[in-house]
Amino acid sequence: MKSYRKELWLATPTRRAYVNITSQVELALAESGIREGMVLVNAMHITASVFINDNESGLHSDFEKWLEKLAPEKPHAQYAHNGYEDNADAHLKRQIMGREVVVAITEGKLDIGPWEQIFYGEYDGKRRKRALIKIIGE
Ligand code: ZN
Repeated sequence: MKSYRKELWLATPTRRAYVNITSQVELALAESGIREGMVLVNAMHITASVFINDNESGLHSDFEKWLEKLAPEKPHAQYAHNGYEDNADAHLKRQIMGREVVVAITEGKLDIGPWEQIFYGEYDGKRRKRALIKIIGE
């Protein structure tokens, strides 16, 4: 069995953002040379997510509104976590949107549905953060 590991560095200019990383995962898959197996992609931070959904800006706007209803950023003082930090909402948003995705690899390609794209979801950005790509197979 072969394995391949790669870190993606991301720095969003805004506190919250969705970045389509599908092409970067496909690049890592090509670099790995693996034809049959699995790829795991996970955020390496507790205030960011990796998830799969539609690459449609209206939906991303809906995510923003929905998450702000569930875990509004402000007022910061509403959260017990915000003693020395102001990012309790970001931890909660990450919990809802998930940490990682696993995708099958078939004949050297990501075996995903026609509308499925892989996103990095940022909830406490404006700094450099990482996502991990781990591919195993043969
Ligand atoms: Zn925190």
